[in-house]
Amino acid sequence: MTAPVTVAIDGPSGSGKSTVSKRLAAALGLAYLDTGAMYRAATWWCRRRGVDLDSAAEVTAAVAVMPLEMGIDPADPTVVCDGVDITTEIRLSEISAAVSAVATNLDVRAELRERQRAVIAAERRPGGFSDGRGIVAEGRDITTVVAPDADVRLLLTADESARLARRARELHGTDDAESLAATRAEVVGRDARDSTVSAFLTAADGVVTVDSSRLDLEQTVELVLDVVERARRGAL
Ligand code: C5P
Repeated sequence: MTAPVTVAIDGPSGSGKSTVSKRLAAALGLAYLDTGAMYRAATWWCRRRGVDLDSAAEVTAAVAVMPLEMGIDPADPTVVCDGVDITTEIRLSEISAAVSAVATNLDVRAELRERQRAVIAAERRPGGFSDGRGIVAEGRDITTVVAPDADVRLLLTADESARLARRARELHGTDDAESLAATRAEVVGRDARDSTVSAFLTAADGVVTVDSSRLDLEQTVELVLDVVERARRGAL
């Protein structure tokens, strides 16, 4: 059996990292952890409990007891909180608009990082979803803080216009001028707020940058698979 592998992928919104990470995990038989979904779930949980998002202490206390179960099958990555399947609901724009308020709380980050590290460690042992083969974990601070010792670390980037056009098509089904403007308001503001607590716009030392601006999804997945294969052979 080959040694377990941990692949860490960071990038801004619209870089394609969720889609690419899921495809990569499925191709290699690895588990998949969407850490952004955990911050979204924390936001959902605070709102459900009526927590004032401006109160750092209340948010911290609520997230500490959040009963969250992350599904790590790349073919069906589910998010269940307090017994409620919130996989779809956490993508709503009201959650996207509020999530940075929760994600910039440093106590929340410490709590969720611990949970993320526990999932990653469990998948390196036989018995879990990937039966010890490993995991692809994606987010904003995985290559730098959550798993700086990952076997493969990638920063997936794309220039701003490519990212906005992709997100507009995802959110509004088109990338006409109106949809682009609406998307810009959401995405650019969120990335700016998020970058106050994580550095995900430039690659840290030892992190491989993959720029998908001029690549389609298939080409990006091919390129990333190639990087992982080279890393496994010790060529990186
Ligand atoms: O990737 P996604 O857009 O779903 O992430 C939602 C939010 O979660 C981000 O805007 C950011 O505030 C937060 N996040 C984070 N650290 C991560 C992953 C996501 O702060 N590792």
